[in-house]
Amino acid sequence: MPGPLPIPFLSFAPQHDPLRSDVLAALARVYDSHWYVLGEEVAAFEREYAAFNQVPHAVGVANGLDALTLALRALGVGPGHEVLVPSNTYIATWLAVTHVGARPVPVEPDPATGNLDPARLAAALTPRTRALLPVHLYGQACRMPEIMALARRHGLPVVEDNAQAQGAAFGGQLTGSFGALNATSFYPGKNLGALGDAGALTTADAQLAEQVRVLRNYGAAQKYRNDVVGYNSRLDELQAAVLRVKLGHLPAWTAQRQQIAAWYGRHLAGIDGLRLPAVAPGATHVYHLYVVHTPHRDALQRHLAAGGIGTLIHYPVPPHRQRAYAGLGLGPGALPIAEALAATCLSLPLWPGLTEEQVAAVAAAIRGFLMPGG
Ligand SMILES: *Cc1c(COP(=O)(O)O)cnc(C)c1O
Repeated sequence: MPGPLPIPFLSFAPQHDPLRSDVLAALARVYDSHWYVLGEEVAAFEREYAAFNQVPHAVGVANGLDALTLALRALGVGPGHEVLVPSNTYIATWLAVTHVGARPVPVEPDPATGNLDPARLAAALTPRTRALLPVHLYGQACRMPEIMALARRHGLPVVEDNAQAQGAAFGGQLTGSFGALNATSFYPGKNLGALGDAGALTTADAQLAEQVRVLRNYGAAQKYRNDVVGYNSRLDELQAAVLRVKLGHLPAWTAQRQQIAAWYGRHLAGIDGLRLPAVAPGATHVYHLYVVHTPHRDALQRHLAAGGIGTLIHYPVPPHRQRAYAGLGLGPGALPIAEALAATCLSLPLWPGLTEEQVAAVAAAIRGFLMPGG
């Protein structure tokens, strides 16, 4: 038997190799149908994904950023409006707000979970606030009942960024089913990944679903009749066919992710200076990423790399410190929680198929570095 090392940050092999013939058959079905854009595969995937997400409607689009952008467009968010976003998210959340002409207003997270803190969200409201955009970061559901109650009190729509959390829930209700119009991504590395770019919106509102169907297809409800200034952001038949195969396996993959996280929790317990992911009461976590925090992050990452263990940083620079957002004038220290999380976070290998022996090897390498002789 080979040893557990090296351990890549991500391996698709255990997910994709057993599905090879099913996926190739799906691709062949599309090839032979001679129909490649907005056909039966997309329609079927939309029905199946809506059923999975326990919402009446899903609309396939080209990627997660477009899903967020179309959601905001359909809700009438635009110039002069502010949208409350987490200070510590992937930049796509902010970009969607900027692309519709509105202003992303960052709200600092609960430092323990990294997710939006409803009290800080309430404190950030202004008369210009037009929507709330919570992100279920790393796969953990935000405290949605409190966020929805706040939104209702102020008459504001919620758009969930569910790119990392397909199948997560709060109080038993699935993420992607709380907000007016919610976005997800099927980028290959997401919990449900296509073989390229893909995304979707989910909603309970038939009219909003129809609006985003029009927006994704040049603003035309009827071919060559363009009622609004739309986009070309359609989900391909090929990607939809692949996603249909993979969707059936998502619950089992999620269970594996949660099992691996539990192994990490056990094997990493009691290491000085290492903070493990915290899960809020009522929330479930589907572990898109397993993110630990340590002040010795950079040295630890180098040590693990030297030992054949791949890690990544999600994300090294928060959006307000990116050059793209220099215009906001938010200098170093402006959002201290986001900046501290970015300086200390490290994502460990976690993918369906990772074994407990491999988890133990990662944990032993971390323990050996942070507690030498301990
Ligand atoms: C991946 C991701 C997106 C964007 O999805 P794409 O399909 O890559 O455009 C948006 N928000 C979050 C939180 C993400 O992780």
